[in-house]
Amino acid sequence: MSALLPTQGPPRLSQTSGGINARSVGELDRLLIALPRAATDATWKKLPDGARLQRLWKRQSAAQSGSLLRTEIAGTPVTLGAAPGESTRYDLLRLAGDLATEVAASPARRVGVLATGDGTAAGDAAASLVLAIGAATFRLPEFRSKAATQHSAPQVRVLGLRQKLDLARLAAEIEAINLVRWLTALPPNKLTAGAYRELVTELAEHHDWNQRFLDTAALRRLGAGAFLAVAQGNADDDAGILHLSWRPAGRRKPDLALVGKGIIFDTGGTNLKPFRAMLDMHQDMAGSAVALGVLLAATRLKLPVAIDCWLAITENRIGPTAYKPRDVVSAANGTTIEVIHTDAEGRMALADALALASREKPGMIVDYATLTGQCINALTERYSGVFTNRAALNDVLVAAGRASGERVWPFPMDSDYDDELKSTVADVVQCSSENEGDHILAARFLQRFVAREIPWVHVDLASAARKKPLGQVPAGPSGFGVRFTLNLLIEQAAGLERARR
Ligand SMILES: [Zn+2]
Repeated sequence: MSALLPTQGPPRLSQTSGGINARSVGELDRLLIALPRAATDATWKKLPDGARLQRLWKRQSAAQSGSLLRTEIAGTPVTLGAAPGESTRYDLLRLAGDLATEVAASPARRVGVLATGDGTAAGDAAASLVLAIGAATFRLPEFRSKAATQHSAPQVRVLGLRQKLDLARLAAEIEAINLVRWLTALPPNKLTAGAYRELVTELAEHHDWNQRFLDTAALRRLGAGAFLAVAQGNADDDAGILHLSWRPAGRRKPDLALVGKGIIFDTGGTNLKPFRAMLDMHQDMAGSAVALGVLLAATRLKLPVAIDCWLAITENRIGPTAYKPRDVVSAANGTTIEVIHTDAEGRMALADALALASREKPGMIVDYATLTGQCINALTERYSGVFTNRAALNDVLVAAGRASGERVWPFPMDSDYDDELKSTVADVVQCSSENEGDHILAARFLQRFVAREIPWVHVDLASAARKKPLGQVPAGPSGFGVRFTLNLLIEQAAGLERARR
C-alpha cells in the first residue's frame, strides 16, 4: 500500500434510539451536547441531570455568551454548546467543530453525541457533530523521526434522536473530506506527480475505477498545448492528465465529469512568486483532490451516476525550458492562447482537461480549482466562487452551498467580459495584465474549452484552506467541495435536472 495514503479510516458510527439516562452516559468516555439557540424547559428536562445542567448553563451564559459549558454526568466529561446566530447549517457545523476539539484533545474511545430540539434541526446538529468528530480526530500527515502515538478513530454513538441519520453518508463524507485534507497537506517532495499517480492507481484498483494516464507524449498527440506549456518547465517528464471513470451497472456514457486542477507545486513559473505567496503552493493541487474525494464518496454511496474524473497533474516551475509571457500555444480544442502571466497556469492546465472531458459528452461538467487570488479577495476563505454557463443553475448551487454548509456565491458570466481577453495575435489571451476581476475573466477564459451544449460549473476554491477553522474542519486544508457536490447530486438532483436543460 502506498505510504502516501491515509491509514486512519472514519470513526465507527452507530445510533441508538430511545431515552438517554445517567447510566448510558456513564458508559461513554465523553459526551458532546448541541443545544438549540433557545432551549426551553422541556428541552432541558429531556437531558440526564437536566435541571442541574440548565442552572449551570444559565449562570455560564450570563457570564459569557457563545462559550462552551464543561461538566460531568456519572463521571463522564460532558461539553455543551449552543448554535449562534440563525443556526444555519454552517453555524451548526462551526459549533460542532468547537465541541469536537474536546475529543481531539484527549483520546476517547466511545464518544456520544446528543442534539436536543425539534426534528430536522436536531438531526442536522447531530450530523454536524459526527462530521466534526470525524474531522477533529483525523491526523494529517506527519514525518517526525519519532512517531507520535497513534490514536485510531473513536466510536461515535448518536443518542436520543428520533430521526434516523444516514450514517453511511456521513462516513463517506468524512472519509472523502479527510482524503482531500490529507492529500492537500502532503509535502511537495512527497506528493510528486509520479507518487500522486501511484496512490490514485491504488484507489482505482480498490474501488473498481477505470484508469488511463495521458502522459506528455499522449497529450502532444491530442494537441493539448496549454497543459504542456505549463508542464514543459518540469525537471521530470512525469506530468500528465489522469482520467478515471466509474460506471454503476448498466451505464456507459458519463452523466458527470469532475475536473480538478492538480498543480502539485506552483512557483509561479517564469513570473516567479515572492516568498510568502509561494510558501503554501503545494496546496495548489486541492482541486484535483476534491474531484477525487467526490468520486470516492459517490462510489462508496453507489450513487446512480456515471462519473468521469480528470486530474491535471503537473508542477509549475521556473527554468530554461519553462513557458514565458507572449508564448502562443494551441489547446486540445484548437483554440490558440497568448500567454500573459506564467502564474496563471491553472487555467492553462484546466483548458485542456476541460476540452478532453467535453469530448466524452458528459451530461454535466464540474471543475474545482484554487484558481485566483481575486476570488479570495472578493469572498474571503469562508465562501468559494461558482461560475456556470447555465444561469438557471445559480440558485441550485447557492442552495447546495447553504444546505451543506460549504457555501458558494455565483459571479457574473456576461460575454462582454471577453473584451478584456482579446489578443492581437491569438484567439484569446490567457488573462488580463490588470488583475481586476481576474476570477471572472478566468471563468470566461475557461468556458471556451467547454462544449456549449454541456452544462458546466466552475468552482474557484477560495475556501480550499483557511488559517482558522472552516465549519466543522480545523484550520488548514478544508476538504471544501465534497459535501457541496454531494448535496448538489443528491438533495438538489431534481432542481439540477430542471436547471441544466
Ligand atoms: Zn499560479
